Amino acid sequence: MNRRRNSVFGVFGMLLAVAFAGSGTSAFAQRVVPRDPAEPQQGRPQTAKTPARPAGAVARKDVDEKAMRGLIEQLVACGTRLSLSSWSDPKRGIGCGRDRIAARLNEIAKSSGGKLQVVIDKFDATSERTSGKALPLESVYAILPGTDPKLAKTVFIVSGHYDSRPSNVMDTEAEAPGADDDASGVSVSVESARLLSKAGANGAGGYRATILFAAISGEEQGLLGGYRLLEWAKQQGYTIGGMLDDDIVGDDPAAGASHRVRLFSGNGESDDCDSPGRELARAIEEIDGREAIRLIFRVDRYGRGGDHYPFYKAGLPAVRFTEPLEDYTHQHQTPRTENGIEYGDFAKYLNLSFLGDVARDNAEALRQLALAPAPPTNAKLTGAMTPDAKVSWAAEDDPERAGFEILWRETTEPRWEVYDFASSAGETVLKGVSTDNHFFAVRSVGKNGARSIAAPTEMERRPPPLPAGAKQ
Ligand SMILES: [Zn+2]
Repeated sequence: MNRRRNSVFGVFGMLLAVAFAGSGTSAFAQRVVPRDPAEPQQGRPQTAKTPARPAGAVARKDVDEKAMRGLIEQLVACGTRLSLSSWSDPKRGIGCGRDRIAARLNEIAKSSGGKLQVVIDKFDATSERTSGKALPLESVYAILPGTDPKLAKTVFIVSGHYDSRPSNVMDTEAEAPGADDDASGVSVSVESARLLSKAGANGAGGYRATILFAAISGEEQGLLGGYRLLEWAKQQGYTIGGMLDDDIVGDDPAAGASHRVRLFSGNGESDDCDSPGRELARAIEEIDGREAIRLIFRVDRYGRGGDHYPFYKAGLPAVRFTEPLEDYTHQHQTPRTENGIEYGDFAKYLNLSFLGDVARDNAEALRQLALAPAPPTNAKLTGAMTPDAKVSWAAEDDPERAGFEILWRETTEPRWEVYDFASSAGETVLKGVSTDNHFFAVRSVGKNGARSIAAPTEMERRPPPLPAGAKQ
């Protein structure tokens, strides 16, 4: 596609340059892109016909907005859900929040044909925001086990945090409704559990990998539940396939709505900024569409954090969904009116139509990712200083896999394009393609059409000779 675009644009570009130069708009004309060498030099990329994306997409009409609102209003009715508030009072405090979520998930589990398992994870954590003392905390997880014996050890997580906070993060008495931050994310996680466990119960075959729907505590005291979830998943022996954090996803307050939800992913530490989180973000955008997802290439909003962060820092695929433009009078504010401005994170500000879209897009991304084969491993790029790029990779046996897509992109492009298809692991020679002008990756494709996240190729390092005493 790039090749074709370049050559067509190249020819017309030159003609345009001449035409515009003659008509006096030379400032624009001189900036017309000069023609680049065609790659591959002969022939065209062989994009073989690979299976279409899996049928049975989660339908927007199946999202139960009423139930989502119902859960959010129940959580708000707990008064405060600060992690330092009461765990035992059934009517006020974070324990009340835990009970409402567990009750709703147990209800959903009943209609899942016994497939969905609800777990309360109790743990202690300490931070500045627990006054340096070990604070007992609880998170609620619902687990939908994968059907494939190998892939069931891979888990895809969707998470929201059910703790909330007033202006003072240590104040256990003040009201902290926390409708948007983050009962909204919890409602996305819980609704995804309903949408996906129902499909599994209907004999649709379930999902190959395990899906975990989390509602966690301790976020406002320092991402305590996020760190714990990562530790818990490791203790259970899971590989993290992907972690979708939904935090402040309930409103679309900017003028001109509706807008796309933002999806944050960090750069990681590689030269080409292809962190696992970035690959997960690209996969989600491809599944849900550019009209639904606004990719933001940074780990989080400026100077802020969320529960995907511990996963990201551990080098795992983790991303954050957040509404298009936040209203700070509704976040982290003790409810009050000041100078005619009403502060507080109330359910009345939510936009359920937007929130329902976010739930649909999370559920569909989880569905396709959990249906996919494992990503390839050990993806490598060799062939430097030769005319041909060579992409190699490995993969475990998987009878449900159709093959692999070899992906490439211009170094300045944000998204992958499919270059070629290979039916088995090994090496593909990209004839006449420079190693230097593109980035490369490989992903697995199931016979069902589901794609894994991409595994970017690592380059063969060819360190130049250095002067004596210089550091590599
Ligand atoms: Zn939050």
